[in-house]
Amino acid sequence: MDETQPLFTPEAPPCRECSAGVMHLRHITYFTWLGEELITVPNFPAWICDMCGKRDYDERAISWLTMLLSPTAGEPTRRIKRAPRTDSPKRNIPHLPLD
Ligand SMILES: [Zn+2]
Repeated sequence: MDETQPLFTPEAPPCRECSAGVMHLRHITYFTWLGEELITVPNFPAWICDMCGKRDYDERAISWLTMLLSPTAGEPTRRIKRAPRTDSPKRNIPHLPLD
């Protein structure tokens, strides 16, 4: 079987923003809002340019996060109750099931 090699090594693709830098895979803490709740996701994979600092997020990680945060994921449509405020406004997200 033929193996088609990618033009660039997946470890260091060139930056599309400045075309001078190289994207590096880093694990950052990703912040996002879910309604009024601040969600923090530790060790979130992000591609960051070493020249301009542009961030690109891993598609699999984003889709995983979207699925995880979707209030109706895997459930039939129903009325969503607003969760009462608790002592800790942060919700801990388990580590990504990625490589
Ligand atoms: Zn760049």
